[in-house]
Amino acid sequence: MQKKALVTGSSRGIGAATARALAAVGWRVTINYIQSREKAEALAAELGTEAVRADVSDSAQVRAMFEAAGPFDLLVCNAGIAWSGLLTDMTDSEWRRIIDVNLGGAFNCCREAIPHMVHEKRGCILCISSILGVYGGSCETAYSATKGGIIAFVKGLAKELGPSGIRVNAIAPGSIDTDMLSCFTAEDKRAMAEASALGRIGRPEDIASAAVYLASDAASFVTGQVLGVDGNMII
Ligand code: NAP
Repeated sequence: MQKKALVTGSSRGIGAATARALAAVGWRVTINYIQSREKAEALAAELGTEAVRADVSDSAQVRAMFEAAGPFDLLVCNAGIAWSGLLTDMTDSEWRRIIDVNLGGAFNCCREAIPHMVHEKRGCILCISSILGVYGGSCETAYSATKGGIIAFVKGLAKELGPSGIRVNAIAPGSIDTDMLSCFTAEDKRAMAEASALGRIGRPEDIASAAVYLASDAASFVTGQVLGVDGNMII
């Protein structure tokens, strides 16, 4: 039977590339989005699957998504938002929102995904962290905190679920060319490229192929790890 995956935030960017790459190696991938309905439905049509709208920060919407399209053998917690600026300029609601989406989204989705995986005694969870979750980034303190939290979340969960045959890993991308970087100038992007030993910004496909590897049996002894996919960023 075809194995099923959910990639959250797969209407565009890294999530869309990951959904395409997983589908190319045989996964049936459910597309998730919050706003980009047309893009999500177009990708779902391309892959012969379904698109489900759910705000990952809302546990009731996440539960409804799992009821509609689950259960899943693979969960990719990719949906995320960024916030740039001085921490002292951040409002209560901006702080809450980034925590609720980036960290709460992973919690809500994993809580729904785990019971089926435990029952099957197999499964795989991938969370998209960030290089900023490892090193921290100036004017991205809250974002860095959510991505650092994801790393600790993955390490804890990998220990909790290992005895049930479930692997849990994180990918920590460097700068990747998606809409998330649209607030940066061309000069900023040149600096980001120069910060990588490979001298370029990453492509969404660079993260997607790491996700395909971690989801595969080739990674069957890999759990609780953080795979940096950043061109060796010096930050
Ligand atoms: P992106 O192009 O901005 O896409 C974000 C995706 O997340 C979209 O599909 C969006 O859906 C979805 N999304 C946002 N909030 C959501 C919510 N509350 N519920 C469900 N879906 C939601 O971002 P990206 O660059 O592909 O980033 C993907 C992940 O990689 C994020 O976790 C990000 O933090 C991480 N990351 C990115 C970079 C980078 O340089 N790009 C680097 C390190 C880590 P809609 O289209 O419907 O809005």
